Amino acid sequence: MKKVTKIIIIIIAVILTFIIGFVAYDRLTIDNKYGINEKNLKIPILVYHDIVENESEVEYDYMQTPKETFEKQITGLMKLGYKPISYEDLIAYKNGEKEIYKKSFLIAFDDGFDGVYQYAYPFAKEHNIPITSFMINYCAGLDGYYTWDNAREMDKSGIVKIYSHSLKHDNYDTYSKEDLLEDVNTSIDQIEKELGHDIPNIFTYPCGKFTEEEQEYLWKNGIIQNLTDNKVNQSKNLDLAGLHRMYPLNDSVLKILLKIEYRSIKYPA
Ligand SMILES: [Zn+2]
Repeated sequence: MKKVTKIIIIIIAVILTFIIGFVAYDRLTIDNKYGINEKNLKIPILVYHDIVENESEVEYDYMQTPKETFEKQITGLMKLGYKPISYEDLIAYKNGEKEIYKKSFLIAFDDGFDGVYQYAYPFAKEHNIPITSFMINYCAGLDGYYTWDNAREMDKSGIVKIYSHSLKHDNYDTYSKEDLLEDVNTSIDQIEKELGHDIPNIFTYPCGKFTEEEQEYLWKNGIIQNLTDNKVNQSKNLDLAGLHRMYPLNDSVLKILLKIEYRSIKYPA
C-alpha cells in the first residue's frame, strides 16, 4: 500500500473513532442532570404563535405552524434526547434549587391563539409535555383566540402554564417604565383572578419591543422577562431579566439542531 493511502486510512479511522465516541458519550449521558454552574448547558426556548390544521393556513412562517410540523419537531427533538421542562423548572435551576437535563428545552406560545387550545394542548397532554402560553388579556375570547374557559381548562390540567404577554399588545417601548409595570401587574392580577390562583411573574414583551430602562425597572420589581431575539440561552450566563427565545419556524429537526448550536455559538447570551 502506498504511504499516502495509509495516511488517508489512518485519518479516516481517527475521524470515525472521534464521531462514534462523541455519539456514544452523548447517548450515555443523555439522562444526566446538572445543577447551575456544573456544566454550561444550552437551553433553547422555542417560541411559536398559532398552531393550525394544515399548510394552507400558514401566512407567515413565524406566526402559524401546521399541527403535523409542530408534532414532528417536538417528537423529533425528544427522540434525540431533548427533554421539555417548564419555566418553573428553569427558575428553580437558576436559583440552585433544581437540576435539569443536559438537553433541556422549553416550549412557549405567544398571544394566546386558539390553536394552542385546539392542537398544542391535546398533543402536550397526551405526551406529558409542559408548555407555556403567554396570553394577551384583551384578546381572550376574540375571534382566533382561546377563551378564559379554555384557559382555565388548560391550566387545571397542569400541562399548560398561562403567563402574561401584556394587557393589549401595545408598543410598550413607547411607554414610561412605570406605565409598563402597571400594565404587566394588572395583566398578571387578572390572569390570577380568572385562574383562581397565583402565577409566577413571568412576562413576554409584545413584538420583542422594550427599552433597557424598562427591562431594568421590571426586573427590580420582580418580573422575569422573555425576549424574542432568536438566540439560545447558555446556563453560564442565564439571565432571568432577559431570557432568549428562538423561532423553530417550520424547519426540520436537523435545521433546529443547527440553529441551537449556531445561535449559541454566534450569540453567547
Ligand atoms: Zn405577541
